[in-house]
Amino acid sequence: GVVVIGSFNIDHVWSLPELPRPGETRSGTYRTGPGGKGFNQATAAARAGAATTFICALGSDAGGTLARSLATGDGIDLRAETVDAPTGTAGIYVDHGGLNSIVIGPGANAHLSPRHIQAQTDALSTAGVVLAQMESPLDAVAAGFTAANAAGALAMLNPAPADALVPASLLARCDLITPNESEFCAQLARHCGEHVEADGLAGLDDDRLHALCRRLLPHGTVVITLGAAGCFASHADPGRHGDDLPFRRVPAFPAQAIDTTGAGDAFSGALAASIAAGGARFSDHLEFASRYAGKATEKPGAAEAMPRREELAD
Ligand code: ADP
Repeated sequence: GVVVIGSFNIDHVWSLPELPRPGETRSGTYRTGPGGKGFNQATAAARAGAATTFICALGSDAGGTLARSLATGDGIDLRAETVDAPTGTAGIYVDHGGLNSIVIGPGANAHLSPRHIQAQTDALSTAGVVLAQMESPLDAVAAGFTAANAAGALAMLNPAPADALVPASLLARCDLITPNESEFCAQLARHCGEHVEADGLAGLDDDRLHALCRRLLPHGTVVITLGAAGCFASHADPGRHGDDLPFRRVPAFPAQAIDTTGAGDAFSGALAASIAAGGARFSDHLEFASRYAGKATEKPGAAEAMPRREELAD
């Protein structure tokens, strides 16, 4: 199965013609729904077919109650630490061109403790994949990856958001990372002193991209998601993951994208589920994740947009 360690947020989303400027008041169309990178990825993993455990921190409030009932609805084994802080929130303005402006209130997410992670050894020690992001405290993520490393589970990090500092000690514990273009460039600059423009990444030739991946994670696998341009995968040891090539590109699924929010979360959750299911070649895992993420862009919302298995067929 898949164990996800991460955030749960209530997203508050306003769509309006133009983003408000300082001092301005505008009206827009409002919707609310569940989000947070951790919960989005756990929902994707579960709906993609994996036995999924989600470890997070919640407040004793309506948001926490919602998280519990949503997890139950998707068959997710929720291991929530109840803390004295409001459940996480995000305020999101989206203009009609798709440009957005976001404020996150981490709330309870900031209080997820290593102790709570360590108390879930039953789940961690039997997982195939332990998946985390950077919306949770570093020491909690590190505790999860320490357990994953000890159990021989695949430690998988989606190093998002891009401004999060991933310490070298945490990268050393990762078997697989799944940055998008800006996250890859941010970590490359930080860890390798290598400055590449995020919008130029898709245009780099494969040998160059592979060499950059090898510098960032010498011992593991890097999968860079490139939006509508698909993804690029680079391995230290292709054979370990059932791949016959050190690097490869996989095109995006030809989706009728209407909302790409959470596309990266869909990709990571589905990739984790496919790897945990075992068997297939790595190229098959990448193709499954691409199809899954492409389908997720055809519906609005974050966690709610994650397709169920029966929606994945053409
Ligand atoms: P993030 O959401 O983290 O910015 P990306 O934009 O790279 O991540 O998207 C993640 C994955 O979602 C891509 O690798 C691709 O498989 C899929 N995807 C994203 N946008 C589209 C799109 N417009 N059409 C089809 N697939 C898409």
